[in-house]
Amino acid sequence: MVKETKLYDILSVSSSANDSELKKAYRKLAIKYHPDKNPDDPTASEKFKEISYAYEVLSDQKKRRIYDEGGEQALKEGSGGGGGFHSAHDLFDMFFGGGGSRSRQPTKGKDVVHQLRVSLEDMYNGATKRLSLQKNVICEKCNGRGGKEGAVSKCMTCRGTGIQVKIHQIGPGMMQQIQSMCRDCEGKGERINAKDRCKNCHGKKVMKQSKILEVHVDKGMNEGQKVVFHGEGDQEPGLEAGDVVIVLVEKEHNIFHRQNEDLLMKLEVNITEALCGFSRVIKTLDSRDIVVTSHPGEVIKHGDIKCVHGEGMPIYRDPFQKGRLILQFKVNFPDNNWISQENIKRLEKLLPTKEHVDIDEEMEEVNLQEYDPNHRSNSSGRNAYDEDDEDGPQGRGMQCQTH
Ligand SMILES: [Zn+2]
Ligand SMILES: [Zn+2]
Repeated sequence: MVKETKLYDILSVSSSANDSELKKAYRKLAIKYHPDKNPDDPTASEKFKEISYAYEVLSDQKKRRIYDEGGEQALKEGSGGGGGFHSAHDLFDMFFGGGGSRSRQPTKGKDVVHQLRVSLEDMYNGATKRLSLQKNVICEKCNGRGGKEGAVSKCMTCRGTGIQVKIHQIGPGMMQQIQSMCRDCEGKGERINAKDRCKNCHGKKVMKQSKILEVHVDKGMNEGQKVVFHGEGDQEPGLEAGDVVIVLVEKEHNIFHRQNEDLLMKLEVNITEALCGFSRVIKTLDSRDIVVTSHPGEVIKHGDIKCVHGEGMPIYRDPFQKGRLILQFKVNFPDNNWISQENIKRLEKLLPTKEHVDIDEEMEEVNLQEYDPNHRSNSSGRNAYDEDDEDGPQGRGMQCQTH
């Protein structure tokens, strides 16, 4: 036997109702009496609260036992019931898993993200960059109220939330909350009479201010790395200011290309240097001159990749450690007829021996020509040859031979 049945009556269930019966009852009634669904019925809100309270008590075994034994009085005396009660809206959001607008109001303003283009030299050596930013600060004249004290009133349409919530039933027991900005107050949640508006900020509560930020680019920082200025974002009344986030963007360098902690560069040498050795002076990103040498006897082939340890980028937060300088070789060959026929003979004697090829009369000699990727092999020339075999190779003039 229970002492009283009021809470059971509110949910229209018997005092022996089980968990799922309680849930079902709450679900049905909470939807029916949700204030957003009954904007013109002031009693709905009260009813909604009662339903939430009843459900919260009866769905909690401990609280239900206290209520069954001692009635509402026992609950009020808080005889070990434990734990406070949720607000009716929170309970509703918890129950329906909705993104409750009330329980999850943002407490921090948005972060402002800026890109800062930084040269490779600055990322190598470290640098301080000054950045001028415009930001909103709270109006000093009205302390962010937007008007005279007391001139600001809560928007009645959205009950100050700035958001209108519409609830749609999309299936049995399935609810959908659709939120939209309150049109009456443009999402601000309050209204100020025109005559009481702050003259300084015109009721906007905030003013534009420009501010210089000093961005410390540390040695070895990377493309995409973020430097965060906490609380330097736009100020907004009632919110903690967001952060200013500076994202580093690496400027293209005309010699070095960065690959994490390595630096890549192309190095052109000519055939003599490739075969007989060479030296090159390379200006580093901190303006030192380093000398790269290939000793006589060492051969550099076109496309070879070599590296110098410790001449790459400094490691971030460990700048005495550096990556590699990676050299990609391009070997330049001389142009046609750069040397007399006579000297070719002499050169040939010095260079590695040529491959010997036997050519007999059965073989067909073809022309080697410059290759133009945009010019397709002329098929008509080939057809002419196929049709008139006796013409021989000489008859085809300058056309490309594809046999
Ligand atoms: Zn103001
Ligand atoms: Zn409103």
